[in-house]
Amino acid sequence: MRMALIARDPGVVREVWAKTPPCPTPERVLDRLAAMITELGGAEPAAGLVLGIPGLVDADTGVVRINANLGWRNVALADAARDRLGLSTMIQNDVRLHTLGEWRFGAGRELTPRQTMADVVIGTGIAMGLVRGGQLWDTPESGEIGHITWNRDGIRCGCGKTGCVETMVGAKALTRLFREQGLPADDFARDVVGTLQAGQPESLALWNQFCRALAFGLSVVILVLHPDLIVLSGGVAQSLSWWKPMLMKALEDELFLGSLSQVRLATSTLADRAPYLGGMSLLLDAALSR
Ligand SMILES: [Zn+2]
Repeated sequence: MRMALIARDPGVVREVWAKTPPCPTPERVLDRLAAMITELGGAEPAAGLVLGIPGLVDADTGVVRINANLGWRNVALADAARDRLGLSTMIQNDVRLHTLGEWRFGAGRELTPRQTMADVVIGTGIAMGLVRGGQLWDTPESGEIGHITWNRDGIRCGCGKTGCVETMVGAKALTRLFREQGLPADDFARDVVGTLQAGQPESLALWNQFCRALAFGLSVVILVLHPDLIVLSGGVAQSLSWWKPMLMKALEDELFLGSLSQVRLATSTLADRAPYLGGMSLLLDAALSR
């Protein structure tokens, strides 16, 4: 768990980290959040609290519908946090906070309200947030690009289906691919990303498989939504410059002539700060609408 005190300007003032408690009931997680707020200097100066959580989050009602990591179902987290922590609290899916931050303050800040931005976050797995018409696309179930079926004869995905894009895309999938080929993968940055610079043919073939599955997922996004900008974010996307030629080739194979035109691909400019600034964006909008 990480938390930061954010100011309109200059952004992240202070940041603290804590381990998720064992048996993470909502009460225990809130106790830990209380300790983190104390560490940041107390709730007094804060205008509000925004919590970013993986999984299905209903921002309107403040309810976490499903969080597989914590084992939560239908937890009224915003209300519970307000009561326990004494701060007006909003909740949102973590990828969407990332998308909002990147759109308003990062790679998407030059876009006009009429333009569409997709933020594809490739970390352990892959997920997507979308801004259209100047607003976050906020249906809780949307953006699950990682669970588009890519190969029906592929391997089993954590979601229960077979051959999802996420079985080939993300740090977890790449680590598995490398190990299956007998290649070292203990340190992701050194063993998996480092091989791109070295240009080893065996590892380039695996990165090419990754690019082909990613291109398939992105082609669905492009054909349906044709975003003006696709931001590739998350730890794995930091090495985009090394595999972008493979990705572009795979995209050209997936798409018909012209469908890639006017779709710009960029990397995140805010990296780890994007979700924090997305949270600030929510608070600013809430203050304006009051
Ligand atoms: Zn899946």
